[in-house]
Amino acid sequence: MSFVEIEGVGKSFGPNAVLKDFNLTIAKGEFISLLGPSGCGKTTMLRIIAGFESATTGRVRIGGEDVTRLPPNKRHIGMVFQAYALFPNLSVFDNVAFGLKVAGQGKAEIARRVMELLELIKLPDLAHRYPYQLSGGQQQRVALARALAPSPRVLLLDEPLSALDAKIRVSLREEIRSLQRELGITTIFVTHDQEEALSMSDRIVVMNAGCAEQIGTPFEIYNHPRSRFVASFVGTLNALDGVAVGEGVAAIDGQTVAVPGLAASPSAEQFTLALRPESVSLSPRPEATNRLNGTIEDVSFLGSVVRIRLRIGGSTLLFDTFNNPASPPPPRGANATVHFAPGDLQVLESGPVV
Ligand code: ATP
Repeated sequence: MSFVEIEGVGKSFGPNAVLKDFNLTIAKGEFISLLGPSGCGKTTMLRIIAGFESATTGRVRIGGEDVTRLPPNKRHIGMVFQAYALFPNLSVFDNVAFGLKVAGQGKAEIARRVMELLELIKLPDLAHRYPYQLSGGQQQRVALARALAPSPRVLLLDEPLSALDAKIRVSLREEIRSLQRELGITTIFVTHDQEEALSMSDRIVVMNAGCAEQIGTPFEIYNHPRSRFVASFVGTLNALDGVAVGEGVAAIDGQTVAVPGLAASPSAEQFTLALRPESVSLSPRPEATNRLNGTIEDVSFLGSVVRIRLRIGGSTLLFDTFNNPASPPPPRGANATVHFAPGDLQVLESGPVV
């Protein structure tokens, strides 16, 4: 049963069509990420769901109710923004109490609910502090508590972690996800950070130029990207120039490799082949098939792993090997042979790498 339904939503600012026929249904309790590059329309979509922006076409339903024309305060939605949008002149307690006071709740009930939320975000002792006395991470937790206080039907998060430093970002994303699961609240999270989307979401909507290019679980999106855009935006993509030389066989820089499902092409058609870095291993055993030989162009020692860039004709192949204290990584300029399982090489699209 879908809880949030976005049907054919389009949005234009003057001549600029920012959203084009956007469709998405979200189940109750689901955590959905809108992932895409800057300017693809993520925030605009979120603002339309919240009611801060009106859709040019299409409709939005929440819990079966058409909210397309409802003002934001009638939608029962909580929202957290990128910048800490706390009221600077109000204490933590009063920030969290804000929506409850507007709703006309009694003093005792407000105090009970605010303390319940401060326990939930693990800041019960900071009720009387002011925003300027909090760290960035604490401010975002308070913003989350404020959004959740009136028990909204849907929680909207617009890049809430992007202003925080890396370590806090990782710990806060785990906290948000476990809180969301505990409350079972339907959540839509906007981010341009693929790692955030992959680690937090039940499903991801990869957006490109105002359209939902692919919708799927993190596993589906990462392992079965439907377009070159999705494959390169989510994860590291190795795009290799291949030529079809027979049924299920291609040549990369003159070296033949098996590509299951590749049709035989009498005209030696060119393809872009995709290979994820983690599918590639160095030093193949003698019996290993699907080998490629190249020249090591770059070696970055990253600690537990060593990232290697191999040049194979006109293509480059990026992959990692685990650090081995007994054996230093191969030097730049050396020849190296890598291998991968045949099924790991996928045809991304016809035509050469662009
Ligand atoms: P970012 O990650 O940079 O925030 P985004 O994917 O969230 O990007 P939006 O903020 O939705 O993108 O903006 C999409 C496009 O719509 C941009 O080209 C932006 O300039 C334009 N836009 C957004 N709001 C308005 C507005 N009120 N008036 C005119 N153009 C707007």
